[in-house]
Amino acid sequence: MASMLNSLRSIVQEVNAARDLHKALGIIVTRVKQAMHTQVCSVYLRDPAGDYVLMATDGLKTEAVGQVRLARNEGLVGRVVAREEPVNLEDAESHPSYQYFPETGEERFSSFLGVPIIHHRQVLGVLVVQQIERRRFDEGDEAFLVTMSAQLAGVIAHAEATGTMVAVGKAAAQAKFAGVSGAAGIAIGEAVVVAPLADLKSVPYQRCDDIEAEIAFFQRCLMAVRQDIKGLGEQLEERLNREERALFDAYLAMLDDASLGGEVIAKIKEGTCAPYAWSEVILEHENTFASMSDAYLRERATDVRDLGRRVLAYLQESNQHCKIYPDQTILIGDDLTASMLGEVPEDKLVGLVSVQGSGNSHVAILARAMGIPTVMGAVDLPYTRMDGRPVIVDGYKGAVYSDPGPQMLKHYRAIAQEEEELVKGLEALKDLPCETLDKYRLPLWVNTGLMTDVVRSLERGAEGVGLYRTEVPFLLRDRFPSEEEQRTIYREQLEAFAPHTVTMRTLDIGGDKALPYFPIHEDNPFLGWRGIRVTLDHPEIFLAQIRAMMKASSGLDNLRILLPMISAVHELEEAKALIYRAYHELLEEGFAVKLPPIGVMIEVPAAVYQARELAARVDFLSVGSNDLTQYLLAVDRNNARVADLYQAFHPAVLRALQQVVLDGHTQGVSVGICGELAGDPGAAVILMAMGYDVLSMNATNLPKVKSVIRAVNLEQAEALLDDVMRLSDAGEVRSRIDQTLREAGVTRVVRPLEEGD
Ligand code: PEP
Ligand code: MG
Repeated sequence: MASMLNSLRSIVQEVNAARDLHKALGIIVTRVKQAMHTQVCSVYLRDPAGDYVLMATDGLKTEAVGQVRLARNEGLVGRVVAREEPVNLEDAESHPSYQYFPETGEERFSSFLGVPIIHHRQVLGVLVVQQIERRRFDEGDEAFLVTMSAQLAGVIAHAEATGTMVAVGKAAAQAKFAGVSGAAGIAIGEAVVVAPLADLKSVPYQRCDDIEAEIAFFQRCLMAVRQDIKGLGEQLEERLNREERALFDAYLAMLDDASLGGEVIAKIKEGTCAPYAWSEVILEHENTFASMSDAYLRERATDVRDLGRRVLAYLQESNQHCKIYPDQTILIGDDLTASMLGEVPEDKLVGLVSVQGSGNSHVAILARAMGIPTVMGAVDLPYTRMDGRPVIVDGYKGAVYSDPGPQMLKHYRAIAQEEEELVKGLEALKDLPCETLDKYRLPLWVNTGLMTDVVRSLERGAEGVGLYRTEVPFLLRDRFPSEEEQRTIYREQLEAFAPHTVTMRTLDIGGDKALPYFPIHEDNPFLGWRGIRVTLDHPEIFLAQIRAMMKASSGLDNLRILLPMISAVHELEEAKALIYRAYHELLEEGFAVKLPPIGVMIEVPAAVYQARELAARVDFLSVGSNDLTQYLLAVDRNNARVADLYQAFHPAVLRALQQVVLDGHTQGVSVGICGELAGDPGAAVILMAMGYDVLSMNATNLPKVKSVIRAVNLEQAEALLDDVMRLSDAGEVRSRIDQTLREAGVTRVVRPLEEGD
């Protein structure tokens, strides 16, 4: 049992480390065959035509690879595909589905066990083991192969995508990678991969044209490292024993042409750039050492890695200084940081893609403020292979396309152009009121965080701030800002918008928003210490913030305070008590402050059901539909794997949204919404009909929403609401809204938020 588990682990680990599909499949068939003590292991994968093709085998004739193909339901392999279940036969030949392929030499094998390889509900392929003598593969065998295949599915899908992209000598095929939306918009451009220096796993693949020059460059770098190592050895000479000194000699030997150096040069001769060739060779060797059973040899993996990094640092250094960014740069990285953005000239940066991170990551917040289409959490993206490739970033859906075909390009160019014209056309709307054809006024406010948001918001005719995310200035520092620092920042916001209202939300950290200087490690952070829970536990932080806000508003008096993540009445009561305390203290200290309106965010299901009680105790409610959706649907808003289940138009969400307005209004308070939903033009029409008093959104979407509201009348919107509230499915809701707006002559002004094509 333990050995099965060990083989499972080590096979998956090895496959994971393989750099391309071909290698990955080779490892799978050899290692599974060994582990199961059988005579054949083969992998069949689905090709674009939908047939299942023999891609790798250990045991069948290798000539059969690429030749044997079966349709769904054809042969035993096709039967596994159709059933989506294992097929386990002791005497395969006598089975009616059995088909004989002479290329394979298969007639000798009578036992067959095939399991489907399923990824995202799709049968990617079939993993088969076979044996000459009759053998009933037992339950344990079957369970092993099923487990193996479930683990390998993701790896194969990933490697397949990478493989498509690097197909040598063939035109690279279009590939799509899913992530989550970081900032809305479409970008079409050229990938520039940024990688932390001397990180062997993230070196971007680049081809080199001048092979001689690349080899010479590589040798210069090796020479430099040799010098370093010699120098280091000499410096440490006295402090090292003989064995340790021998290590330095071993390092030097590894760099020889006959050793690592030689392997790298062979790869450069095939046209691969030196840094990538070097990282590939090093990773392979590191892996070989790491999988050895001898502890001493296993330790050598660390030495190889260390040496690898030293050389890589030289190889990358000279590339850094003269980085030329293309005009339409799409910056791609494993974990993009704000400082990486800063290196690209602003007029050249059109899109961003990060493999790690989420829509709430610091970089995404910045990207939204700058209006740069961004995809986060593109976990399957083989980013090291993307440098220089044409790429499309769909920041609405959270998708990245590499090497897009002409159809795809045409489709997205049309959308991008439509957007551009739309934005130009919408500039004229800036000073017009947001009102329906029948003169119903709906205030449109903005969500802000950075100072850059302020200018863009005012340019677009925002009538107030519905959500100022105070965690943003906190995120940009390396310690908590002092009360006075906060006062200055808040004053800027309040002044810029005065006399319009600015709604400042108290610090909302936790979840996925951790301050670098106040880390919170939890297994389940979205259900943990978040928002008001943190600040009530730290009254000193809360009070300083409230005091700073009130002082900043002195004389302007356009502040409202908003409390995040309230899930119980007592939390509100406690927060209010602290606010009153700060207010009285400030009065006593002689500041001319006023008590601002206080509001609660409705973003936890409990708050929906207690909206009346909460409303009775505050001046306004504001729905945070981003969190409310994730908590109602139990879908992590930042997890790309379940992104298609995060449905903003889910009927359960719509009912909750409707309930909150009705309940809030019974208590006579204003009810607004400041989640991303408010910035979706179709949703805005529905929210208006529900009775929302104010919609708050990012500045980019404000003109689009305004143009749609100005093109409908309230009665129409109410009829549409009536209609959609009867539907039972998010997709239906989305299409009913789109269809109605189209019929009403409202042009499509923005792509849907999520329910995609
Ligand atoms: C929300 O949850 O909808 C919201 C507006 O707050 P945030 O996105 O900052 O969590
Ligand atoms: Mg929230």
